[in-house]
Amino acid sequence: MKITDIEAIAVVFPPPAEHFWTAFRPIGRVSELVVRVHTDQGIYGVGEAHGSGMPFPGIYQQNSDGSLEASGASKIVVELLKPVLVGEDPLDNERLWEKMFQLNHHRGWASAGWGRPQIMTAIAGVDIALWDIKGKAAGMPVYKLLGGARNPVPCYVTGGYYQEGKSISDLTKECETYVDMGYGAIKLKIGGVGVDEDVARVKAVRDAVGPDISLMLDVNEGYDVPTAIRVAHLMEPMDIRWLEEPVHWYDNVAGLRQVADSTSIPIASGENAAHRWQARDLIMNGGISIMQFDCTRSSGITECLKVAGMCASENVRLAPHHDPQIHGHLVAGLQVGEIIETFPTAERDPIWAELFTERPEIVNGELILSDRPGWGIELDEDTLKRRGVWA
Ligand SMILES: [Mg+2]
Repeated sequence: MKITDIEAIAVVFPPPAEHFWTAFRPIGRVSELVVRVHTDQGIYGVGEAHGSGMPFPGIYQQNSDGSLEASGASKIVVELLKPVLVGEDPLDNERLWEKMFQLNHHRGWASAGWGRPQIMTAIAGVDIALWDIKGKAAGMPVYKLLGGARNPVPCYVTGGYYQEGKSISDLTKECETYVDMGYGAIKLKIGGVGVDEDVARVKAVRDAVGPDISLMLDVNEGYDVPTAIRVAHLMEPMDIRWLEEPVHWYDNVAGLRQVADSTSIPIASGENAAHRWQARDLIMNGGISIMQFDCTRSSGITECLKVAGMCASENVRLAPHHDPQIHGHLVAGLQVGEIIETFPTAERDPIWAELFTERPEIVNGELILSDRPGWGIELDEDTLKRRGVWA
């Protein structure tokens, strides 16, 4: 089999009517890089990568007249990666990953105005498409190719965002709706208000949902080390399943280790790790119990398997961030898989709501993967036409 063409489409959803805030950042306009790798045997692979979480422009830019244009990682797929991949065997994902990765060490890309985070995002989109091809060629879903550890997959719901005018009773009502939807695990945002107020928020949710629901807390790098340690101690009585990214960006390995050593709450991190070496530092030196490597933000499945191997030997569990239609296969396929992140509404996750005509289903807090080959997803061509900008 040979690769004949590669498309990159920046899918950009409308700005949200209302901002949801994490500790410091609003969740703005949702976007997703869709990559399609075509072959000479009629099989094509679909890959996806994040539209955000890197220096602007991630995958698109908005021009002064309001029009949208593909840029950043979208352009890199077509202008940097496609020329070295056309004619190659798409089943050789290990070799092709290395070939793409080595482009980081050549002249040329820097003068095009691109950065390494964007290159790693572009690699993610292509690599994920190659795994779709591998599954389709084998006639198997990816989670079966990876090892078929479990299906369905346990999910948690991420909520508890800060919103203008939202009271603690609004927050507890929100969490009760998640329990009614069948979720057994809920992640709340903290770190955006004073410590006393966050403790009150979490205590109110614990009292409302009862002792049988798992609660996780995501700080989105909102604290310095002493504050993170103080908050961890205050949250311990609320039976917290994990405390996520508690420490500011500049001290998120050694500082994270100090927090981990001082609390009984397991520490989670890794959604911002770009590759196996950053993941290694978190696993070996950051004291984490939960690795959240996001292979749709950076590097793809091929790299995540290397991260998963390190997790397995260090007794760290894998709970990837975001994009359950892709990451669900990792948690389903690998014994080290723990749980998968999902979002409750179309407003928070329009990708899940609008991008597919076929995808996994979430029923009673579990993700159910189909037996369709590859990722088991079909893109909604109407959504692509309406929201997509081709590079
Ligand atoms: Mg997070």
